[in-house]
Amino acid sequence: MTTNLNTSITYLKGVGPSRADLLKTELGIQTYSDLLNFFPFRYIDRTQFVKINQLQQNSAEIQIIGKITSLKTVKQKRGSRLVATFMDETGTMELIWFRGAKWIKDAIKLNIPYVIFGKTNYFNRSFSMPHPEMELVSEYKKSLRTAMQPVYPSTEKLTNKGVSSRIITKIMQSLFQEVGLNFKETLSDEIIKTNQLISKSEALFNIHFPKTQELLTQAQKRLKFEELFFIQLQLIRKKMIRKAKIKGFNFEKVGTYFNNFYHHNLPFELTNAQKRVLKEIRKDIGSNAQMNRLLQGDVGSGKTIVALLVMLIALDNKYQAALMAPTEILATQHYNAIVELLNGMNVSVKLLTGSTKTKDRKVIHQNLESGDLQILIGTHALIEDKVKFKNLGVAIIDEQHRFGVAQRSKLWKKNELPPHILVMTATPIPRTLAMSVYGDLDISVIDELPPGRKEVKTAHRYDANRLSVFKFLKEEIAKGRQVYIVYPLINESEVMDYKDLMDGYESISRDFPKPMYQISIVHGKMKSEDKEFEMQRFIKGETQIMVATTVIEVGVNIPNASVMVIESAERFGLSQLHQLRGRVGRGAEQSYCILMTSFKLSNEAKIRLNTMVETSDGFKIAEVDLKLRGPGNLMGTQQSGVLNLRIADIVKDAHLLKLARFTAINLLENDPSLSNPENRFINIAYHEISKNSTLWANIS
Ligand code: ADP
Ligand code: MG
Repeated sequence: MTTNLNTSITYLKGVGPSRADLLKTELGIQTYSDLLNFFPFRYIDRTQFVKINQLQQNSAEIQIIGKITSLKTVKQKRGSRLVATFMDETGTMELIWFRGAKWIKDAIKLNIPYVIFGKTNYFNRSFSMPHPEMELVSEYKKSLRTAMQPVYPSTEKLTNKGVSSRIITKIMQSLFQEVGLNFKETLSDEIIKTNQLISKSEALFNIHFPKTQELLTQAQKRLKFEELFFIQLQLIRKKMIRKAKIKGFNFEKVGTYFNNFYHHNLPFELTNAQKRVLKEIRKDIGSNAQMNRLLQGDVGSGKTIVALLVMLIALDNKYQAALMAPTEILATQHYNAIVELLNGMNVSVKLLTGSTKTKDRKVIHQNLESGDLQILIGTHALIEDKVKFKNLGVAIIDEQHRFGVAQRSKLWKKNELPPHILVMTATPIPRTLAMSVYGDLDISVIDELPPGRKEVKTAHRYDANRLSVFKFLKEEIAKGRQVYIVYPLINESEVMDYKDLMDGYESISRDFPKPMYQISIVHGKMKSEDKEFEMQRFIKGETQIMVATTVIEVGVNIPNASVMVIESAERFGLSQLHQLRGRVGRGAEQSYCILMTSFKLSNEAKIRLNTMVETSDGFKIAEVDLKLRGPGNLMGTQQSGVLNLRIADIVKDAHLLKLARFTAINLLENDPSLSNPENRFINIAYHEISKNSTLWANIS
């Protein structure tokens, strides 16, 4: 039997027009299929019954069989409450309703056995149960009720209108009674077998009416797997289609630019991770498809040199290259570093930012169009329509999460075919999350720091020990080092934060008096020339201390700065702390990070601080962050439709995610168009899902 699952739920027993309306507006449930895919978020064990004389204070949810012997309405300050006397063979208690008294009063039958379910309160030496779930014993026995009772997500409005979890269960029962237990399979026999899954029909039934814990676990596994599998299938298919359809420039050869640089200018040996990543990139750009690759590498892992080498390969193939950074400071730093690295080589490089003078800008525009300019480094200024390349072959974006989709897509249009795109990020994203959020990009990871890097020593200190911290700073400054002192500046309480910053600055000025000590200050309210001026003083070593808000967070590289003090460290997120710490440890000296806090700390803050003290591995830190905050809040993953999951959880179900991805890749390698007869169910389900999916729009 096959009922059309697109049938409106108004046709179900127990769903009138007003309930249908509520379910639609509150839960988005309109069709049989919507309802079927509305899953419980937990289950309650209802095998046990309790007698009234066994009730205990602070009990969990319990169920009792008994009868209501009388009902009364009790006036109270605002409105009234409905009170029922409920009794079994061992004693009596009260059932209480503060809302919905009217329809409950009409619905309740006196002196007939009910099963009631809920939490009890203990007051004045007697027990009561507010807003119990109730069902006639006769109904209870008839229902599809199972040991594990499902609890469905609800909303305040639904609760107020009496549409409880039990009502949803009832509607679900009507649904199953109407459509039977035979649902269309969506996976192939092969996949079901190798992954030891139960069938779709069994899974759907047991997710709503689990007979045993074991079957429930099986049902959850099957449905989670399926959900993750179809997302991966879409992501991987999208990538395959892009590779097949979007032609890219073929950088056939590695020529003199690359080789000269590699053999004469490269100041160090590449790490194995850098070599591996370079190989991965070369494979992309040497094919006929466009590269779309994400390069993840912790702060200081050496992404810039990889970017430069890729740009030189573009030059070897007579193409131009562009490198875009989110801030002027960063773009300038990249420019300076690259000019220095290319010293003695005949490569033309220019910097283009918002503050490039009109006169210079004109020359840059001309030389880009004529092809005389080979490498352009800059900020957003680089994607303006006026900026036209003769033949852009590769575009590299640093700190990609700071750019919007629209900005990135502008780069695609800078040549007739889209240039190869490499996006770089120092925000490590746990692998499982990257698979979901960037599943359609190729991903490379630099998971190794250059040799000889000393790990930054990290300590947590309380504000009360400030004097000893200051003493330590003075010792380091005496050795010729420089120090950052960072204050949080968080939008909501900007005025307060700003005051904290200024107070802090004053007290530091007192403890580090001129002329012995010089202090720079940089914060978001300053004009950009002033910021730049202060930054430069610090970079040149004219000042020893930089008091700043988090504006210095992004990519700044000052090797002589070896101490990072973070004030009110408990107010920073883990990824921010990690980014800040990455500002030191860039030179040869031992570096330090000191996390200052008051004694009052939340548990989560303690976990964050401990994590920072214990590890400097960005990926480990990102894992903890993911566990603490959930996937939706991590930097670089916001607004990703991929994370709106019905049943799977990217953190808890990481192993299933891997399994699903592996299965999807395997399947598409063998049957890219899903046209094998044995994959016909997958094909049908895939097309149905992609039709309704927002995934395509949300990922770029
Ligand atoms: P990030 O990945 O944070 O952008 P950078 O590219 O700025 O890191 O590199 C950080 C520092 O490490 C730079 O000073 C760079 O010259 C240096 N570096 C990069 N790769 C190596 C290497 N293989 N060996 C030694 N030093 C390296
Ligand atoms: Mg960098």
